[in-house]
Parts: sequence; C-alpha cells; structure tokens
Amino acid sequence: MSDSANRLHELPQLLGGPAVRPSGPPGWPIARPEIGSALRDCWTTGDWGRYHGENIPRLEELIRAFFETEFLTLCSSGSSALELALRGVRVGPGDEVIMAAYDFRANFQNITLLGATPVLVDLRPDDFQMSVEQIESAITKKTKAILVSHLHGGIVDLQRARVIADAHSLPIIEDACQCQGASYGGQLLGTHGDVGILSFGGSKLTTAGRGGVVITNNAGIAQHIKLHQERGNIAYPLSELQAAVLIPQWEQLPTDHEYRLKQVEFLASRIEAEEVPGLRLLMQTNQDHLRQRGNLPLSPGYYKVGFRYNKEEWSGLTREQWCIALRAEGIAFDPGFRSLHLTHSRRRFRTMSELPVADHADEEIVGLHHPVLLEPAEAIEEIVIALKKIHLHAHDLHQRKETSQ
Ligand SMILES: *Cc1c(COP(=O)(O)O)cnc(C)c1O
Repeated sequence: MSDSANRLHELPQLLGGPAVRPSGPPGWPIARPEIGSALRDCWTTGDWGRYHGENIPRLEELIRAFFETEFLTLCSSGSSALELALRGVRVGPGDEVIMAAYDFRANFQNITLLGATPVLVDLRPDDFQMSVEQIESAITKKTKAILVSHLHGGIVDLQRARVIADAHSLPIIEDACQCQGASYGGQLLGTHGDVGILSFGGSKLTTAGRGGVVITNNAGIAQHIKLHQERGNIAYPLSELQAAVLIPQWEQLPTDHEYRLKQVEFLASRIEAEEVPGLRLLMQTNQDHLRQRGNLPLSPGYYKVGFRYNKEEWSGLTREQWCIALRAEGIAFDPGFRSLHLTHSRRRFRTMSELPVADHADEEIVGLHHPVLLEPAEAIEEIVIALKKIHLHAHDLHQRKETSQ
C-alpha cells in the first residue's frame, strides 16, 4: 500500500495535482461480446427493421420468468412505464397520489400530467427512504394510489406500506428503476407492489439507451394498461433492436448484482476502517445484522450508492462542490435529487406537515454511480484514496471555491 500512501500526498486534481483515475470514471454501458452478437444476429435476421421479430417475445419471457409475473408491458421509458402504471390503477383528474417528498422529478410530473395531485410525505431519518409511517395520515377520500421508489441503494419498508395500503384498499405502485435484481425478504423489488416499473434508460443497470417495463399480477390493472398502450398501434413501444441488447443483460443480471453487493460492502468497510468522516452509506449492509429488516434479508440494488454527506466535516464544501472535486479525481459521485417540495410551487402538491428530513436530503445525499462497482477491488481502493485526499485538502478546496465564485 506504499503506492496509495504516496498518492495521498499528492494534491487534489482541482488544486493542480494528478487525478487518482486520470482516465476518468469507467464508461457505461460495457460492450460485452454477447451484446455484439445480439446486434449482429439482429442484423442477420432483419429483426432490426421489423415490428415483430424474435427478440421482444424472448425478452418478455425472460422478464416474466425472472419476476414470476403474470403480465408485463414493455415500453419506451421508465417514465412512460410510470404513466402506464398510474393509468393502470386509474389515476385521473382530481385524484391524489401519495409519494415521498424526495423522488425522481419525472414521477411528480407524471402525476400532475394526469390531472392528479402529488401528496408528499417525509423520509425516514435513518436511511432517507420514504417514511411509510406517514402514509396513513396522508390518506383522504381522493387518494387513488401510493407511489413507492427505492432510491440510491435503499429499500422502502414495503411490508409496513402493504398493511396500510390494504387497510384502505389502495394500490401500491413500486418504482424499481434504480434496483434491478434487488430483493427484500427473498422477493424481488418491483413485485411487492400491485404494479412495478423498471427503466432501461442509458445509465441504468440494464440498458437499451431508452426503454422500460411495467409488471403486475393484477389482471384488472394489466387490462387497463393495455387499453392505454395499444391504441390500434402501440403508443410507447420498445423496439426489437432494444429487446435484443437487453436479453444478454438480463441473463447476466444476477451475477452482476451479487458482484456489486460485494463491492459496496467492501467500500463501506474501507470507508469505516479509514475513518473517512462525514460520509455514511444510506442503507448500511456491511454487517450481517444490518442485512435484514424484521428478520427478512435485504439485498439492495445499486444504480447509485447513496451516502449521507455532512459538509460540516468537509470544511463546508457543498455536496455539489464536493462531487465536482471527486469527479475531477475520476470518481463518479453525483449530487442526489432536489427535494420536490423545494422545487415546485405549493399549488402543485399537498402535504400534511413540514418535511424536515426531505429538507436535509436535498442538501446531503450524494450517490456513487454504479459502473465502478463492476471493476476489480483496486477501483474501490482508488475511491477511498480520492476521498481521503479531498478530505485532507477540503479547506483549500473550499477557499478556492470562494475566491473563484
Ligand atoms: C431512471 C428512473 C426512472 C425512469 O427514467 P427513464 O429515464 O424515463 O427511463 C424512474 N424513476 C427513478 C427512480 C429513476 O431513477
């Protein structure tokens, strides 16, 4: 480790030193040979230019078997998947949909697009996931659905959400766009709700550049989705070519998932061992007893590895400045979402109370982008070196920011 000790004595890239990863973060997607074969096969068969070929049915079969789901609808994005899911549970003008005040922005907009009102609830202070305890008090006669998103390596307490939803006969829409292959209690995320959605967007864990899917075991919901997706023609289609590149990725997903889990546990243990301050994994899973909730095993998915960042421990660098410094080292940290109640007019949503935890999430969540998790363990060590280097020079980086702004 003398090499890494030397690298610690170098200046951060932003202060004129060499980057820890001069070539930058690893790219995405990975050009695995199976993808090349799938593209070539598509070219040979002509499926690349057809409405109906072999690939869509094969992908449907693969996803159906993977999730043991009865109905699925492939579509053009995770956002269109959410729109179809909302329509599937008959959300329309005047309705309310309960969701967390910290979520993917398009989820909020999909609800308002349908003429419904998002009702925002706060997060749990421990893991920054939706506080399902607050769902009950948010329910009114207008409530039509509960939208639950597992974010940044976290898992929402769906067992508890299910009890509340059932008591009020409300459907749960489960956004599993960030956690393909993840599970809770041995059951895959995306199948705990009445309807689940996944995204095949360009940065996601399985990607076709664009794309998504809705899954459900509820025939009524499936029927309604079909009504909206099939209007004589398919409204938001996924193409044969997209399906072709997704097939090998879904075959590979369980292996990739296990590898990512190990890498995140390793990263968490290294951050702890090196006593990097002011940075805590949102959902700690690096010890056996943490890898379960209510005796049920947790197996999170990592589109982003979410951390709670405390700027007080980093000389006051905002999460945005901190991420820029790490990106300059070749480590792909990004600021989390902006909280929805802070970025939308009060007229567009309803809430019962203040949202103090979501206020914190707005400033404190940072996420490590997933591609580095498929690299060898040395890549994890590089992340730790970059963190320590930035911490050592946080004061100077902050001064630099203040003078350059
Ligand atoms: C990516 C994502 C979506 C959907 O994104 P698309 O780009 O429309 O496929 C939805 N919810 C969450 C939480 C996401 O991260």
